[in-house]
Amino acid sequence: MFDKLSDRLGGVFDRLRGRGALNEQDVLLAMREVRVALLEADVALPVVKEFVDGVTQLAIGQQVLKSVAPGQQVVKIVNDALISILGGETSGLNLAVTPPAVIMMVGLQGSGKTTTTAKIAKRLKEKERKKVMMASLDVNRPAAQEQLEILGKQIDVATLPIVAGQLPVDIAKRAMQAAKLQAFDVLLLDTAGRLHVDTALMAEMKAIAEIGKPQETLLVVDSLTGQDAVNVAKNFSDEVNLTGIVLTRMDGDARGGAALSMRTVTGQPIKFAGVGEKMDALEEFNPERVAGRILGMGDVVGLVERASEIIQKDDADKLAAKMAKGQFDMDDLRSQLNQMTKMGGLGALAGMMPGMKKAKAAMAASGMDDKILLRMDAIISSMTKKERAKPELLNAKRKIRVANGSGTTVQEVNKVMKMHKEMSGAMKKIKKMGGLKGLAAMFGK
Ligand code: GDP
Repeated sequence: MFDKLSDRLGGVFDRLRGRGALNEQDVLLAMREVRVALLEADVALPVVKEFVDGVTQLAIGQQVLKSVAPGQQVVKIVNDALISILGGETSGLNLAVTPPAVIMMVGLQGSGKTTTTAKIAKRLKEKERKKVMMASLDVNRPAAQEQLEILGKQIDVATLPIVAGQLPVDIAKRAMQAAKLQAFDVLLLDTAGRLHVDTALMAEMKAIAEIGKPQETLLVVDSLTGQDAVNVAKNFSDEVNLTGIVLTRMDGDARGGAALSMRTVTGQPIKFAGVGEKMDALEEFNPERVAGRILGMGDVVGLVERASEIIQKDDADKLAAKMAKGQFDMDDLRSQLNQMTKMGGLGALAGMMPGMKKAKAAMAASGMDDKILLRMDAIISSMTKKERAKPELLNAKRKIRVANGSGTTVQEVNKVMKMHKEMSGAMKKIKKMGGLKGLAAMFGK
């Protein structure tokens, strides 16, 4: 996400941070580079101008230039300005009405609307324990209704039974009735997309909104289309009463133009970001954290959240108990590696950690990638149960057997052993410092 933009800005700020003193000229020069970086990222021109002007004015202030770490101060000003153009605060869904709360999903064809509908349904069901129903009103695209039905089965969320030949407005009426009768908390209406914004589409949206009285009307747009996404959003928000935007395909968006321009140009908050094709690849859009990622300051909160979603509580408890005893065997190492794979692999993790952007590039350059996680897993799988519990049993002969069994080399087996040793050493240290609680205390939590 935002890799290109982040690299460009990272370079500018590394140079600023590296200097003890700054003068006005340095700041102006840096801001010129920021401007180019934002334009290259396909950020809308008026937004770039507003951003650069605002930041420049604050940054050339005497307090900043005369401060102890002027570079850091400038970066902070940029960070705050980024948060502000990204929308300031996180704006979640507002579903506080007499149920069913209706969420109407709108957008162009192929924007990811149906996928997003299901992702939001899953999220509401799992995170907020809502009873959710989805209904597809898309009678234009062949099999659109069936697509939603299949997704519903996959995530175990009810869908309105399909009645062939029914018109969107009638489906909406039937969905409302069903949701009321069956006491659903939330009804998601997945409306038909079009190739481009046209009057027929808008008329249909309005008719459906009339019936559904949606609490939330979310526009789904593809972030990869950059300024087009922003224009589409502007057109929609002029016509229908939007309450927010969902930007999809952020996982592939290296530039970030749509995300950065959306709020200023359309006035609409981005509520969610689609970050992959899987049903749980949806994040609440948090301006503070997104700004952190863009500036390479990492997204530690996001990292921890992702980890806590994936790591089963039982496993975490078991590991904590073992750590309390200072134990950590190969099976523990393997489960750690599996969790890393589930969290999106080394690349995804590095991208979220502060200061890891460069480590990520170095990893890529040295050919270290997620295949390594798989190879390590294969190595551990080739050990016997006893060896996994007591890695010190692995002598030269056993190592050759493990290497042959896993299709790797003794060198790689040694690397896994070393990693295990380091991690178990770290666990012992944590134990000495008073366990996880002691560690948490050190971070002031
Ligand atoms: P619709 O025509 O707007 O309903 O679009 P779909 O929901 O059918 O999505 C079109 C394609 O985009 C599908 O292959 C989805 O899996 C994919 N897609 C949707 N959201 C995302 C996302 O956030 N990231 C990625 N990588 N793919 C997505």
